[in-house]
Amino acid sequence: MDHLGFLIDMDGVIYRGDKAIPEAIAFVEKIQDYPYLFLTNNSAVTPQSIKEKLSGIGVSRCEIEHILTSAMATADYLQGQKPGFTYYAVGGPGLHAALNAYGRKDENDPDFVVIGEGEGLDYDTLTIGINILLQGKARLIGTNPDVNLNGTRWGKQVTLPGGGALIAPFQVGSCKEPLFIGKPNPVMYRQGLKRLNREAGEVFMIGDRPETDIKGAAKMGIRTILVTTGRYRRYDPYPEDTPLPDFMVDSLAEMDLSQLQSMV
Ligand SMILES: [Mg+2]
Repeated sequence: MDHLGFLIDMDGVIYRGDKAIPEAIAFVEKIQDYPYLFLTNNSAVTPQSIKEKLSGIGVSRCEIEHILTSAMATADYLQGQKPGFTYYAVGGPGLHAALNAYGRKDENDPDFVVIGEGEGLDYDTLTIGINILLQGKARLIGTNPDVNLNGTRWGKQVTLPGGGALIAPFQVGSCKEPLFIGKPNPVMYRQGLKRLNREAGEVFMIGDRPETDIKGAAKMGIRTILVTTGRYRRYDPYPEDTPLPDFMVDSLAEMDLSQLQSMV
């Protein structure tokens, strides 16, 4: 088989909020013979809940092994740094589940303070986190640097604070610089390639945000497809210091698989 693989962002590519993007779902059907991975910086959600959401909007053949969240990438990375690590985490259920799979909670002197999206930040958790960072050995880790994301709260579509926004008070309060794992940082892409069992030049990253999806992938030598169904629209100013994508399309229906095959 051809050595082709896909890393696929979800929000703005496969769906917008709760609404499916039908051309993208048809594209996922077409690539079933290739290795592919849905990649999300959202660390609050569990792979199981993502699988359910995807199957609810028509991505029927997605399995858990097709999903990599920044929380899973973070846990995997920390396990590589320090097997059986201890942590103090503030974030949603996806973050706690991912860390708990490899590490152990410790509120006294953990190896890492890990901050991600979702509920959990309040005066007490911030105070505990800052004290750990100031008094102990812990390194400050962010699942992802996104400032915000689309989500649902109070029964309506809203903009939610992202990992970058939620880690800021810990960073300011402790004067410690965080290490971020999710897009556009290389760790998440490296793990994606490993899971696909592909080299960077054999893989296309499909995303809707130039400054994260495209920038991070291009830095790794991964080919890129920017689809204008999400955050970035065709006539928006293109962000500085961001490489142009290999393809910019208004719909994944425009992508020709034989053309992609000929490039790898
Ligand atoms: Mg997106």
